[in-house]
Amino acid sequence: MRNFIFLIVLFFVFQWLLKKLRRANERAQQGDAQAGGATAGGASGARRTNHGNGAASHDAPQLADPLIRCAQCGVHTPRSESIVVAGQRFCCADHARHYAARPTGRDAR
Ligand SMILES: [Zn+2]
Repeated sequence: MRNFIFLIVLFFVFQWLLKKLRRANERAQQGDAQAGGATAGGASGARRTNHGNGAASHDAPQLADPLIRCAQCGVHTPRSESIVVAGQRFCCADHARHYAARPTGRDAR
């Protein structure tokens, strides 16, 4: 009977770990845009930071829709849904307007 209870506790712990992993993944995606399904796999190797930044056209097959970073809010959006205004990329037209309305552009960050 104790084994059963132990299994239940293990299940909850596993779910909690998954949630934590997912959050770490979202944070790691700010560094490199890895659009993959590493959710239902191993619990290790979710965070890789030895990838570097300049991985533009390496051996990895380039995605048809790479993620780009919004210059206003920092959210990553697919390129097809992004808006390019004055060399800056935005997730929506609203942010492009906000960014253009700023006096100098980058004083907050
Ligand atoms: Zn935005």
